[in-house]
Amino acid sequence: DLETLEVGYDIPARPGQRVVEVLTPALIIDLDRFERNLGRMRNFIARHGLRLRAHAKTHKSADIALRQIVEGGACGICCQKVSEAEAFVRAGITDILVSNEVRGDARADRLAWLAAKARIIVCVDDIRSVGELSLAAQRHGSTLEVLVEIDCGAHRCGVAPGAAAVDLACAVNEAPALRFEGLQAYQGSLQHIEAPVERRRNAETAAQATRTTVEMLAAAGMECRTVGGAGTGSFAMDAELGVINELQCGSYIFMDAHYDRVKEDGGGKPGGMENALFVMAGVMSTAIPGRPVCDAGLKALAVDSGLPRVDRAEIRYVRATDEHGVLDDPERVLDVGDRLLLVPGHCDPTCNLHDWYVAVRGERVEAIWPVTARGKLF
Ligand code: PLP
Ligand code: MN
Repeated sequence: DLETLEVGYDIPARPGQRVVEVLTPALIIDLDRFERNLGRMRNFIARHGLRLRAHAKTHKSADIALRQIVEGGACGICCQKVSEAEAFVRAGITDILVSNEVRGDARADRLAWLAAKARIIVCVDDIRSVGELSLAAQRHGSTLEVLVEIDCGAHRCGVAPGAAAVDLACAVNEAPALRFEGLQAYQGSLQHIEAPVERRRNAETAAQATRTTVEMLAAAGMECRTVGGAGTGSFAMDAELGVINELQCGSYIFMDAHYDRVKEDGGGKPGGMENALFVMAGVMSTAIPGRPVCDAGLKALAVDSGLPRVDRAEIRYVRATDEHGVLDDPERVLDVGDRLLLVPGHCDPTCNLHDWYVAVRGERVEAIWPVTARGKLF
């Protein structure tokens, strides 16, 4: 209950406050931009006759997942971990793909238990995983739906496309408590290729391997109801290529400085999406002229894909340490207490650093949303 939480200790702000009162550093959602991104994706999938299973690892928020389903056209969500899926089921979400391998009896057991409460789909790339999952689901009297994951070029999990995938699908089909649902065909390493021509070439290669596998499965009597894949960098191309029928985009809802560099044919950002996520930082020191320091460092921002971009052309964020961000301010315009909006280099791991989203509209805080599945890594 938000009412009992104390601003400044538990939460960075309260609904109704002015944005200039939010305690920094804070994770900010610009709701107008966020809602336009929701609408862009809803229209896109409707136009192309595709399903969207929004990737919730990006935001880890039940509030956002529900909005993606209710307003954003999503059929359900993806997440990466069993404990993450459990947090979303507890929050009332009933259709979840764990777009990842779930290994070992403890995790299989937990997932099978969850499958008695919600629709749960999971990926496999190993015959031993079929046994682990099937035994667990039998114990719980549940059914786990399974996507056979193929390696379509990223070399991160997945059996080879073609015969190896067909063999594994047969094993899934024969396992008592599993149901073969289709293929997981996500090519992660192409998502951030900046040039559209080269990105499309990689997407075509992945689509060809996936199409061949779908056809071989059909010839063996196994229909793929779901062919899952696509991220924010590739979904427009994947829609044209026509093999994937369920998009797994995550970052589209927020975007980040890394995706700002990924271009579409006309030079715009993927799908025309807008930056809707910021870390608001406050200037805490101007002791060194031209090098002010803000209060958002490594504990407020993930920098694996580059430093954040400051939402003001004349100022740059040049160095991050644990709790400090060093800025370059050649015109010396900043003073202590000034606020900056930073576009994080990489949205997903940035969100996992925060307890709360401060959702703002114009100058007002409209809502405070917890990062529901923060730290759910099992
Ligand atoms: N699907 C899978 C399996 C992923 O691992 C990811 C992200 O890495 C995505 C979808 C979503 O990608 P993006 O955030 O680029 O939309
Ligand atoms: Mn990411």
